[in-house]
Amino acid sequence: MSKDCIICGSNIPPHTTEEGVVYWEGGHNAEPYASGRCCDLCHGEYVLPARLKQMKEERYGEKWKPIEFKTT
Ligand SMILES: [Zn+2]
Repeated sequence: MSKDCIICGSNIPPHTTEEGVVYWEGGHNAEPYASGRCCDLCHGEYVLPARLKQMKEERYGEKWKPIEFKTT
């Protein structure tokens, strides 16, 4: 299982307690921005805004124009 960020490609740093014990190293779910895992930075920078937009789309339905998340 890769621990590289799907968005920026950098290694996802594990989350540790104050004692330095690793308790989570899987990164964040990058959906709906991308399919895979992402790092803390990309999660706040890309994934959360994309998720908010998706919520608005679902709420307003037809009135809300679809927004492209992925750049190919
Ligand atoms: Zn990243």
